[in-house]
Amino acid sequence: MSYSNGSVATCPCGRLAIASCRRCGRTLCDEHRRALPPAPEGISANALGRYELAIRLADGPHCEGCRADIGNYALEQINSAPRAPLPEHWLDRAIALSCDQSRSDEEKLRDAALPASLTAKDVAAEFLRRIERPAQERVPVSPPKLMREPDYREGWSVDCRRTEYTVSGPGAGRYRLPCLVSVHGDLLGPALEEGDKPGHTWSIVPESEIELPLLVTGVAQLLVLSAFMPPPSAPTY
Ligand SMILES: [Zn+2]
Ligand SMILES: [Zn+2]
Repeated sequence: MSYSNGSVATCPCGRLAIASCRRCGRTLCDEHRRALPPAPEGISANALGRYELAIRLADGPHCEGCRADIGNYALEQINSAPRAPLPEHWLDRAIALSCDQSRSDEEKLRDAALPASLTAKDVAAEFLRRIERPAQERVPVSPPKLMREPDYREGWSVDCRRTEYTVSGPGAGRYRLPCLVSVHGDLLGPALEEGDKPGHTWSIVPESEIELPLLVTGVAQLLVLSAFMPPPSAPTY
């Protein structure tokens, strides 16, 4: 690109300009004519989709700043759109929120609106009333004895504990200690042992150790997933 006086236009980065922004007129090199602004954080899935579409589909060459303006304009439209309505019961609400695209994570946390009196025991009981599939896992609740298998409890595992432990080697990192909602409505898990490792036998996890919003989200997801699984096969005689 060159001006009528014969001088060559350059992009602010110093490279030769080959286009100019359709909106603000800034001269752009090949790379900067395509540069896309980063998406804002903490927005809903719907808003993110709309933002990315808007910045990509902006007609003609645009600078990064003008693409961001175009994306933000699209976000304003979607932010003023109504959110999907939520059911009354806290677990129905959690189930609806686990598939909701119209709210950001922050809005989901606020709109979960868990009753102040809700306990982990209540959550487990409500989950058991609704789950129509057999338990998927079993965990040892006693150490193995000579010539005898340990005792087991069956249930569903949910990632909801406060205490973390360290894994080294492949998949290294910090993980929450596991937790199982047993078929009897107890929350079972290993304690943290010396060396920052989970113990081998599982026992009742105290309420204070459970992150209630995580437990509610976890059981909501199990209920959503169970709806997609084929029903248990009838017993054969
Ligand atoms: Zn521009
Ligand atoms: Zn450039």
